[in-house]
Amino acid sequence: MHNFLLQVLPILDGFYGSRHWRPGRNALDELVLTILSQNTTDRNSGRAFHELKRTYSTWHQVCNAPVGELAHVIRIAGLAHSKAPRIQSVLQHLATDYAEYSLDFLAQLPPSDAQTWLTNHPGIGPKTAACVLLFAFGMPVVPVDTHIGRVAYRLGIVDTENPVKAQQLLETLVADDHKYAFHMHFIQLGRLICHARRPLCAQCPLQTLCPRASTYVA
Ligand code: SF4
Repeated sequence: MHNFLLQVLPILDGFYGSRHWRPGRNALDELVLTILSQNTTDRNSGRAFHELKRTYSTWHQVCNAPVGELAHVIRIAGLAHSKAPRIQSVLQHLATDYAEYSLDFLAQLPPSDAQTWLTNHPGIGPKTAACVLLFAFGMPVVPVDTHIGRVAYRLGIVDTENPVKAQQLLETLVADDHKYAFHMHFIQLGRLICHARRPLCAQCPLQTLCPRASTYVA
């Protein structure tokens, strides 16, 4: 593991508390919720997911609903006319080639193959795929959003703010058994303290280690 991360992660464990992966939603629910969460808040995506589940009692119904109707049901998530066909594309693939609406088979694949299977669908990028694999199966992958990319860049762990490139780097730099905690800690740090415009370095548990802290501390 990256030497700097060996210093950083125990500090964040102490600051935010230890984070360990536990089984949660099934993978298909996780994927649909993650698609709904693209470019919106957790609150709005959660409401859209709830509305989808309330309206349709089976994935077969979601798969075969008129796409405009599905878009209307999930409209609170925004970009509904893009997200509805993305959801139906995966469901149609499962119905046609796998005969059941389940992504559980991905757990048997190597992470890179599971990522490829997911990202071969429209609107599913590396971050969305990694979220599904990490949260549903605890696979050793590192979803990187703008918050995580920004924090990792400011700390000098990666040399790019591009989330896709940062994700590729971090998947090699973070040890497998620390990937879940890394994701959870860095997203929290980015959302709550290491803001894009005015990071709150004086409140940051990594201030003494961060090469950019003096840039922002008055
Ligand atoms: S010290 Fe400041 S710039 Fe560095 S990680 Fe913390 S909040 Fe971000």
